[in-house]
Amino acid sequence: MQANITTSSHLVVLGTGGTIAGESGRPGDNIGYRAAQRGVADLLAGLPLTQGVTVSCEQVAQLDSKDMDHPTWQVLLQRVQHWLSDASVQGLVITHGTDTLEETAYFLSATLGHCAKPVVLTCSMRPATALAPDGPQNLVDAVAVASDPQASGVLVVCAGLVHEARAVQKVHTYQPDAFSSGDVGPCARLYEGQVAWLRTNPLTPSRTAAEPLAAACLALPALDWPWVSVLYSHAGAQGREVDALVAQGVRGLVIAATGNGTLNQGLDQALQRAAAAGVAVVRSSRCAFGPVLVTEAGGWPVMPGLNPVKARVALMLQLMA
Ligand code: ASP
Repeated sequence: MQANITTSSHLVVLGTGGTIAGESGRPGDNIGYRAAQRGVADLLAGLPLTQGVTVSCEQVAQLDSKDMDHPTWQVLLQRVQHWLSDASVQGLVITHGTDTLEETAYFLSATLGHCAKPVVLTCSMRPATALAPDGPQNLVDAVAVASDPQASGVLVVCAGLVHEARAVQKVHTYQPDAFSSGDVGPCARLYEGQVAWLRTNPLTPSRTAAEPLAAACLALPALDWPWVSVLYSHAGAQGREVDALVAQGVRGLVIAATGNGTLNQGLDQALQRAAAAGVAVVRSSRCAFGPVLVTEAGGWPVMPGLNPVKARVALMLQLMA
């Protein structure tokens, strides 16, 4: 599919589904829709894309991102690498559901490293059939970012803001401006198709650090990627679930700890048993904002700046490498 055929830059838009491709039988219905109904070519049809940009597209998956899985990530990584290596392609856009968007963005950023060409994920909170769908504007904005000469690495565009993969997190269940980069803040804003950079993105790992991770992800069957689970520390936590997971063969555990990375002592004792059995344990925080600051007392290792679901991806990749 080709749109707005002119000269200067060529982008590829990869579709994976989500609410941006969702449909409802009732136009006023923003919650009872089915995600992943429209193809990516339909989402692009008729959009007023940045002048001088040509776009082609590929449907890589068609799913509600709550169901995102490792086999789909493996295919996506392979297709992203394929298109990035094409000298005629300046950048990529990926349409994705909001629910696990931050996980996919982090996975790609960790496995691609700081690629010179931008890979821009975008989404929507309202289905394509809504009275006021937010998907078309987000997609137009994502194309503007992907064709901007200053853009690089894995970025996320939603509601007029550009976020970095490492910092971004879905923080709202309903409102169109559903994402936040917490203390780090967005790295750019969009004004009528113009990208206003607030900083260049420094948060992505180097290409050389990422390459072995990408190679491992492509070499190992996705169903064999190491099993890493996320557990909460909470009132009354006793850690019995830790023992159950260890008995089932879990390879790594991420604890969504309280506050600045503290753990209920019952859970902590169960984790000591898990570690003695060879399970990798790391900490993150249940708090939406702020890093886990390591104290003199030490404790379980921390994945700096990563929320629990991204720490899960980081630990899985670490175990794979
Ligand atoms: N469940 C949808 C998804 O993640 C939600 C959305 O896209 O906003 O695919």
